[in-house]
Amino acid sequence: MKRSKAGPSTLAIHGDGGPRAVGDPVAPPIYQTSTFIAATGPQDDVLYTRYGNNPNQIRVAERLARLEGAEAAIFLASGMGATALAHLAILQPGDHLLSSEWIYGGTRRLFLEEFKRLGIETSFVNPDKRREWRAKLRKNTRAIFVESPTNPVMRVLDVAWLAVLAKAEGIPLLVDSTFASPINFRPIEQGADVVIHSATKYLNGHSDVIAGAVAGAEAYVLEVRNKMRVWGQSIDPHAAWLIERGIKTLAVRVGRHNESGQRVAEWLEHQPKVRRVHYPGLKSHPDHAFAAKVLDGFGGMVGLELASGGKAADRFLRALRLIAHAPSLGGVESLVSEPRFTSHASMTADERASAGIPDGFLRLSLGLEDADDIIADLARGLAAA
Ligand SMILES: *Cc1c(COP(=O)(O)O)cnc(C)c1O
Repeated sequence: MKRSKAGPSTLAIHGDGGPRAVGDPVAPPIYQTSTFIAATGPQDDVLYTRYGNNPNQIRVAERLARLEGAEAAIFLASGMGATALAHLAILQPGDHLLSSEWIYGGTRRLFLEEFKRLGIETSFVNPDKRREWRAKLRKNTRAIFVESPTNPVMRVLDVAWLAVLAKAEGIPLLVDSTFASPINFRPIEQGADVVIHSATKYLNGHSDVIAGAVAGAEAYVLEVRNKMRVWGQSIDPHAAWLIERGIKTLAVRVGRHNESGQRVAEWLEHQPKVRRVHYPGLKSHPDHAFAAKVLDGFGGMVGLELASGGKAADRFLRALRLIAHAPSLGGVESLVSEPRFTSHASMTADERASAGIPDGFLRLSLGLEDADDIIADLARGLAAA
């Protein structure tokens, strides 16, 4: 495929460009149709929206492939749908999957419950213990999966190192890059084979669509498409159109998320009621130096620990007027959630504390509001905490 040297903002808005004729619409039409008139007789490929060949589905997929530097990409009905099919396109019954321990709760359940039922076994590695990756490899290990940056402490994994390990084993490395978006990090540049997104988050960016995406080599994405067709995971044309519109502003949005993330994290670090702030842009973050090398921006996700625990978190949340208490992330609206009731609800308080997520931990997804207003709201929360 020919690659132009256009920057990410230009790519996000125009993709590969294409012909322009007088009378063409500047914004793409929505092909809100389940099916298309077909020629009579035997066909190689019929157009049908479940097959992923609706023009809106194809346009948005090409856009993401360009941004990730991948040969191809495909959008699916949710981030979980994308994660499931990204793996099912590779793994067979009897195969072993090596996964980071620091992953999204839904993904963990997918591996431990659904994949197990299909005869696919998963081992989990603490990414801080490098030797464990090699130690837990088996003869039947067929893929390595990681998430970076991680939820909710924003650890940044060494994808390039993992890619070398995976290559030596002749197996693919899959990276859930939802928190970074292709503006801040492109795993394929680091040697990863597959990129997975919850497009619900930054790619769409407006908290109004559920979708996922997978990017990688052409032949691999074709296999994901085959799975998608039979598992019924295609994306609706209107959702695809909304995501394409969202992606057009991805670079400016993420630029602002990065600025606000840094400002808010630095401000929080100076507040006496805050014990600790988790943000890779802070010198106090364990991965700061490494993150500064591999990321183009530190993102809009900030973790904070209130000094006085869970009760203080309740009071903090009730005092907020701008930042909404809601799950999910990556939208224009600032959101806050408590991992003890969401992603880490299945652990005991002690288990969470030893995982670095004590009660009183709050996860912020900073939106695109003025940083001064976000800070004023956080000050309101802290005053009540
Ligand atoms: C939200 C999320 C998912 C799941 O995405 P959905 O679109 O909700 O299915 C997967 N991975 C990460 C890192 C997420 O944040």
